[in-house]
Amino acid sequence: MKVAIVGAGNVGAACAQRIAETDIADVALIDIAEGLAVGKALDLAEAAPLVGHSRRIVGGEDYTLAEESDVVVITAGLPRKPGMTRDDLLAANGEIITQIVTELSRTAPDAIYIMVTNPLDVTTYIAHQILGVPRERIMGMAGALDSVRFRTFIAMELGCAPADVQAMVLGGHGDSMVPLPRYATAGGMAVTELISSARLDEIVERTRQGGTEIVAHLKTGGAFYAPAAGVAQMVAAIVRDEKRLMPASVLLRGEYGLDDVFVGVPVKLGAAGVEEIIELDLTEDELAALHNSAEHVRRTIARWQDLQDA
Ligand code: NAD
Repeated sequence: MKVAIVGAGNVGAACAQRIAETDIADVALIDIAEGLAVGKALDLAEAAPLVGHSRRIVGGEDYTLAEESDVVVITAGLPRKPGMTRDDLLAANGEIITQIVTELSRTAPDAIYIMVTNPLDVTTYIAHQILGVPRERIMGMAGALDSVRFRTFIAMELGCAPADVQAMVLGGHGDSMVPLPRYATAGGMAVTELISSARLDEIVERTRQGGTEIVAHLKTGGAFYAPAAGVAQMVAAIVRDEKRLMPASVLLRGEYGLDDVFVGVPVKLGAAGVEEIIELDLTEDELAALHNSAEHVRRTIARWQDLQDA
C-alpha cells in the first residue's frame, strides 16, 4: 500500500514518519519547496534500520510521485500564527489547494483523499469540487484530532489512562465544533457521572480552543504530533480495511438535515473510504449546535466563492 503526502512541513513530515514507522504503508512525500521533501524522505529512510521497518519513503517536487497511491493526504499550506483564526487562511490556502488538487487529478485520480489543510472543511469542499470523486473517497481530518484532544483533557481530569477514555467531537473544525459529553465514557462509565457539568463545560471549551492553545505556545505555527496521529489512524483504517468508527468531515446529502456541506460526523472508515455515515439521534441542543457549525462552514465556502468571482 502506498500513501502520498503533499506538504512536507511539520504535519506532513510527522505523518510520513508515523505512517512508515508504524508499518502502515510506503510513503511518497511531495512539497513545492525545492529539496525539502527529498531531504526529509531520505532522513526518514535512513532511520529505518534503527527503527526496524522496511517501508519505502521517497520525496520530491514532482506530482508523478503520487502515481499509484491508494491514499493521498494533503497537508500543504500555511499554518496559523497567534491571533489568527483558521478562516484567516482561506485565501492563501484555497489557492494552494486548487493548484495541488489540479495536479493530483491527473496523477492520482483513483486515490482516497484525506484533507488536512485549514480551513479544513472548506479546503475539503474545494478539493471535492475539483476532483469530482464520489463522496466516499474524500474526507477531512479534524474530528479524529478534536476527539483525541477531548479524550486527553477528560483523562487529565480523571487522572486515568487516556486509552480508557472514548469521546467524540462533531461539527466544523473551528470554534463552533461540537464536543458531545453525553457520548463520552471512561472505562465504560459515562463521564457525565464522573465529572461535574461545570467542569465538563470547561473541558469542552478547552477542547474547542485546543489548536489555539498550542499556536499560542509555539508562536510560529500549529500543532503537528497529534494531528499526524489522527491522520495515521485514518490512513490505517483505510489501507487495512479496519472499519474504524470515528468522526471525519464528509459531504452530507441530507444526513442530520444538512445538504451539500462538509462537516464532521461519525463515519465508518474501511477500504472503500467512508463506508457509512452514522446518524445519531441528537438532542435538540446538540443538533442546533451542529447546524450552527455547518452554517459557519457554509459562510466560509460562500466567502471562497466570492473570492473566486472577484
Ligand atoms: P508547515 O508550514 O510546517 O508546512 C506546510 C508545507 O506546505 C510547507 O513545507 C510548504 O512548502 C508546503 N506548501 C506550500 N504550498 C505548497 C504547494 N503549492 N505545493 C506543495 N507544497 C506546498 O505547516 P504545517 O504545520 O505542516 O500545517 C499545514 C496545514 O495543516 C496548515 O494549513 C494547518 O493549519 C493545517 N493543520 C490542520 C489540522 C487539522 O486538524 N485538520 C491540524 C494541524 C494543522
